[in-house]
Amino acid sequence: MHTPADCLFCAIVDGGIPADVVWRDDEFLAFRDINPQAPLHVLVIPQLHRADAGELAADPALAGRWIAAAAHVAGLLGAAQGYRLVANTGPDGGQTVDHAHLHVLAGRPMRWPPG
Ligand code: 5GP
Ligand code: ZN
Repeated sequence: MHTPADCLFCAIVDGGIPADVVWRDDEFLAFRDINPQAPLHVLVIPQLHRADAGELAADPALAGRWIAAAAHVAGLLGAAQGYRLVANTGPDGGQTVDHAHLHVLAGRPMRWPPG
């Protein structure tokens, strides 16, 4: 684990790049996605840099708290009809930002399979 100087989401954690923060605690930060794919689209990230979900899950307790944080944010923002959690991981997973993030998507029925 390291903290790349050029990591976009580390810069959001540090406040160097602005974001619409909806919730935070000691470990995680939740902010609205800049290109929302649903009426509610929030990203939940660890404040300490982890490259992807696999690296974060090397600490299973942290991974559990990450999912709990995402579920908490979904409830906080009124996803009463349900929500979808997504962790795009690696090139085939469609990951475009190399700092682990859980997408919280809600506010419309989700389709399956995803693209
Ligand atoms: P990924 O494609 O890695 O699963 O998700 C990265 C997400 O980060 C995308 O949904 C993209 O819209 C979002 N994103 C990229 N740059 C920014 C930014 O500067 N601010 C915010 N709030 N979201 C961003
Ligand atoms: Zn980072």
